[in-house]
Amino acid sequence: MTERLPESSINGMNEYRKLLLANKAWAQEKLDLRPDYFIRLKDVQSPAYLWIGCSDSRVPAEDITGTEPGELFVHRNVANLVIHTDINLMSVVEYAIDVLGVRHVIICGHYNCGGVKAAMSRQSFGLINKWLRHIKDVYRNYARELESFTDPEARLRRLIELNTIEQVRNLAETSIVQKSWLKHGRPWLHGWVYDIRTGLLQELTLIRPGDLPDDIYRYEFPPESL
Ligand SMILES: [Zn+2]
Repeated sequence: MTERLPESSINGMNEYRKLLLANKAWAQEKLDLRPDYFIRLKDVQSPAYLWIGCSDSRVPAEDITGTEPGELFVHRNVANLVIHTDINLMSVVEYAIDVLGVRHVIICGHYNCGGVKAAMSRQSFGLINKWLRHIKDVYRNYARELESFTDPEARLRRLIELNTIEQVRNLAETSIVQKSWLKHGRPWLHGWVYDIRTGLLQELTLIRPGDLPDDIYRYEFPPESL
């Protein structure tokens, strides 16, 4: 039985092809600049940075940092959250730090973040409620400061900043990061925010190796494991 597809699916056919065409042009452009552009990357990657950003399509990590393939190891999720039970993110973090040896981890939030905005509302969105509740926890921790803003837009901007700062702390509180600090003296943990309206990044926080904010989260490791 052949299903009748809606008209929009026929238009969709052409929509995706432009990506494949653009890819051909992009690859050729790189080869024109440097004939070994792709070959030199085929066997190894040794990026200096792990980027943890929002899935938002308006925040393309490589474009806004002017980085090339091979420079940035990237993980993105809704509202750039670092949740200790997220096996996906934690696997990325451990691999980036222990195997790739990244020196910097950048957690990048962005203004006009739909995830943070949704978390600030009382609307139920289904499964993603469980993800966004971590942002509600940040709101609760900073409720006094946030509620001092009368302008909802300014309050949202501040929650976006605070959420990013909290995620950097979450990362510092992992045994993965702390062990690497003791063993290798890296990585530096950065919290940045990106402004979609200006295209500019701004630094919010920096945690240097060994600089754990709260002692209760500090793990002790047997010397033979270091
Ligand atoms: Zn976002």
